[in-house]
Amino acid sequence: MKNNLLWILIGLITFTQAENRKPNIIVIIGDDVGYGDFSANGSSAISTPHMDRLAKEGIRFTSGYCSASTCTPTRYSLHTGVYAFREKNTGIAPPDGPAIIPANTVTVASLLKDAGYRTAAIGKWHLGLGENRPDWNGELKPGPLEIGYDQCLLLPTTNDRVPQVYVENHRVRNLDPQDPLWIGKEKPSPDHPTGVTHRDTLFMDWSHDHNQTIHNGVSRIGFYTGGKAARFRDQDLTDEWVKSCHQFITENKNQPFFLYYASHSIHVPRLPHERFLGKSGHGPRGDSLLEFDWSVGEIMKAVEDNKLSNDTLIILCSDNGPVLDDGYKDDAVTKLGKHQPSGPFRGGKYSVFEGGTRTPFITRWSGKIKPAVSDAPVSTVDFAASFAALAGISVPQGACRDSVNILPNLLGETNSPIRDHILQQDNNGKAFGLRVGAWKLVREKMDKQSQLYNLKQDPQEKNNLAQSNPEQLKIMNDRLEQILAKKK
Ligand code: CA
Repeated sequence: MKNNLLWILIGLITFTQAENRKPNIIVIIGDDVGYGDFSANGSSAISTPHMDRLAKEGIRFTSGYCSASTCTPTRYSLHTGVYAFREKNTGIAPPDGPAIIPANTVTVASLLKDAGYRTAAIGKWHLGLGENRPDWNGELKPGPLEIGYDQCLLLPTTNDRVPQVYVENHRVRNLDPQDPLWIGKEKPSPDHPTGVTHRDTLFMDWSHDHNQTIHNGVSRIGFYTGGKAARFRDQDLTDEWVKSCHQFITENKNQPFFLYYASHSIHVPRLPHERFLGKSGHGPRGDSLLEFDWSVGEIMKAVEDNKLSNDTLIILCSDNGPVLDDGYKDDAVTKLGKHQPSGPFRGGKYSVFEGGTRTPFITRWSGKIKPAVSDAPVSTVDFAASFAALAGISVPQGACRDSVNILPNLLGETNSPIRDHILQQDNNGKAFGLRVGAWKLVREKMDKQSQLYNLKQDPQEKNNLAQSNPEQLKIMNDRLEQILAKKK
């Protein structure tokens, strides 16, 4: 009898633990992947079967946004829950830039770490490293480990900028101290080969700007020397990160974890692994999209291999809208064909029209989220507040002030909008888009007259209603001013 009671008690405890288990959270963020690059969004000439499957098993959001139309500001606000325009120097980070999120800032990673999660950042960082500048041959801190990550394996900036090395935790991986890494803005010697002086040797020619130090047959923005043993081959980046993600998921399968997987696909230079070359029929941009889609499938497989699908919320998003020629002659324009990277929307990367920030957005949590399509407006700036709610912890006073807990939308418990607006910014926070319901305000420059669109009647933002509807224009302009002025 005593034994029976004991077993019942153990059974109850085990059941309660399983019920109380905090779900793992995986964020997969694509790079320059547009709304229409995702075939389930309906307008693509390129098939993305793994993303489509993720969406079919979860929620496909038709009003899913990132907060900015370039890499760094979206990644900044995703982490901090604060719009990038509120802080200085949050535009596209340079090759040798310092950490732009100070150590000990409350971030999505620190919140989850405090809630008992094991946390990892794998992929592109592009949020700077170091106090004043990165110490490439020493300790690279502050960085992800000072804002809540337990471990990281990073491309430190972005791959059209130097250097092409992995940063593993605080160090450049495989760096030979006898061959130090030097990075700078000035040409290191008169005979240093560049994309200008050695253009005829390039594997992929540049179209603008990207013509300084050459690595792997491709010239980049910025100069560097040394660190030869540490340098990677661009074509192996995704495979290395997928391997690292798989390992992290497997090692942490018995405890809650947060994985931030920031792919570099389909950003320039588009150099997917050779096995994807020619497979899309749309040149390297399309082939990179296939590689990104493959990596999404591999992350799902890692979750399934470890029997974690019912314990894991996967969110897929992008950091900004699409771009074709972004510095290299890679046939993105000539081989575009009927593919529509922005889907039905106007604009793309760098723009505050819808195509700049309305991007693929999927949530999946098997057994928890019912498959659906949702038009609730959701934004990457909301991850901090929403994940904190999911992990059962509160956000400290004053932190993550632009982040809204939209968890019921993300989990499909309601499709009614929780957010009553979406704010979109350009790279430096000089142009803004504001969506409230069907209304969209576009303010491209502070000194220029704003534009007003009705997205329901005019999703392509072609018919400017600013003159014909001054009352609505004023309402939207006042609202924008109110959001821009929001204090701590
Ligand atoms: Ca990007």
